[in-house]
Amino acid sequence: MASLQVRGLSVGYGPVRALRDVTLDVPEGSVVVVLGGNGAGKSTLLRAVSRTLGFHRGAVTAGTLALDGRPLPGPGPDRAVAAGVVQVPEGRQVFARMTVADNLRAGALGARAGSRADIARSLARVHALFPVLARRTGQRAGLLSGGEQQMLALGRALMARPRLLLLDEPSLGLAPKMAATIAETVTEINAAGTSVLLVEQNAALALRLASHAYVLEVGEVTLSGPAAELAASDEVRRRYLGLTGPADGTVPAPRSPRALARWSG
Ligand code: ATP
Repeated sequence: MASLQVRGLSVGYGPVRALRDVTLDVPEGSVVVVLGGNGAGKSTLLRAVSRTLGFHRGAVTAGTLALDGRPLPGPGPDRAVAAGVVQVPEGRQVFARMTVADNLRAGALGARAGSRADIARSLARVHALFPVLARRTGQRAGLLSGGEQQMLALGRALMARPRLLLLDEPSLGLAPKMAATIAETVTEINAAGTSVLLVEQNAALALRLASHAYVLEVGEVTLSGPAAELAASDEVRRRYLGLTGPADGTVPAPRSPRALARWSG
């Protein structure tokens, strides 16, 4: 298990400022969620942590990233993976023409995957978490359903034995039941000893899963707190849980700076 410390992080894509002065913690053994609408900067945050910003022509312009209190290895993603930081990118990116087995094998190519015995153990664990992947082992990944592809993307990341798992919108485009299955699995993965940083638009699901939550708006953290407290806050209920107002049908109060200050403390 690893802990992550992000301090005063700013990221730009050329002239586009995508993150500004973001400070965030993933304590060892926790599940932390970052909520926010389209374009808020969620993927950018994960790219900074997985050291993949360069692939998107982005760069850190200020701030620091630390793993277990020491500078996060970089500049490339191979260094981050070797340190145990592994990302499951948005959009269920599997190797469509390769078999399920080969996709999982590809996840074990990094230095952290360990000996052949370690890899066999990781594979057994992935098959136990996702029995469907064991049943479809010889099938081309492109023929799996969307939910099964998400399982494969997650399974492939687990083959690298992450200490910190980065998940980019794992519930995107999945039916509610499949999204709930993925969420349960994330809880199991966390319980087995992996810290998790999750970005999600599905706030209801994510707040049940996480211990701590941050809200990003236009590149800045505007709210943060224990997930249970955020789930109960009117602000979050109204804006991220789709609940339009108090049960009595009155118009919601305007956003209060004091309430905001309490959350972003
Ligand atoms: P979504 O939920 O829609 O994926 P997001 O919260 O993940 O959104 P990001 O993808 O991190 O948001 O984008 C943050 C900002 O950076 C947006 O204004 C976006 O247009 C911009 N951006 C993202 N990637 C690039 C890029 N490769 N080049 C230029 N601008 C980019």
